[in-house]
Amino acid sequence: MLDGNLDSRAERLNGRYRHHAAIDVLRRAVSDPELGRVALVSSFGAESVVLLHMVSVVAPGLPVLFIDTQMLFPETLDYQREVSARLGLTDVRVIRASEAEVARHDPDGTLHRFDTDACCDFRKTVPLERALSGFDAWITGRKRFQGGQRTELEFFEPEPPLRLRVNPLAHWRASDVQDYMIENNLPRHPLVAKGYPSIGCAPCTSPVKPGEDPRSGRWRGSDKTECGIHFIGGRMVRGKVTA
Ligand code: SF4
Repeated sequence: MLDGNLDSRAERLNGRYRHHAAIDVLRRAVSDPELGRVALVSSFGAESVVLLHMVSVVAPGLPVLFIDTQMLFPETLDYQREVSARLGLTDVRVIRASEAEVARHDPDGTLHRFDTDACCDFRKTVPLERALSGFDAWITGRKRFQGGQRTELEFFEPEPPLRLRVNPLAHWRASDVQDYMIENNLPRHPLVAKGYPSIGCAPCTSPVKPGEDPRSGRWRGSDKTECGIHFIGGRMVRGKVTA
């Protein structure tokens, strides 16, 4: 891991790249020594192809971490393979809980029905933390327009105790995402056309009606809004917190 205070490193990086476009932030992030070892974490969801395409342009060999919860839609697994091949991404790493972990925590695959936090924890958070232990920074697709604590999102933010997060699309609007996909003729996740503007695991994602919040189909009927793979103060964030 790199030495130095995380907050001051994030501040310096934000100052250095404040006026850069998203792809320039990404290009510099993968080569700036102040970032160290960097990976992209992607769900291969509804909007993921934007960052994946940018990575294919600036650094197609960058490690891409894809969390297979083993509860995903088959369409997501197909889309992951199709997009990776089409974009020429050469280091896509599929991250998942081990067979032993599944047998210990969720032997009959029903944990999501009565404890979604525990299910997300062992299927997403723990495998991701394990995979990220070899990196100094990770790239996310979070954006300010998504609301909550994301409204103040910067390009670079500290993730104590040791890592930085990079948010190249922080300043993008929803229309920028759509425009980018159209202009670059990028393949869409097949479930978007079937009413899923935000796509997670099959048991916890439902279609969204016109006018509803795009994320309202995630854990519908519960107060859970995030899977817990974001961290504040080095601790996993649960519930309504959306950092
Ligand atoms: S989204 Fe649902 S199925 Fe997927 S890991 Fe979380 S609780 Fe389990």
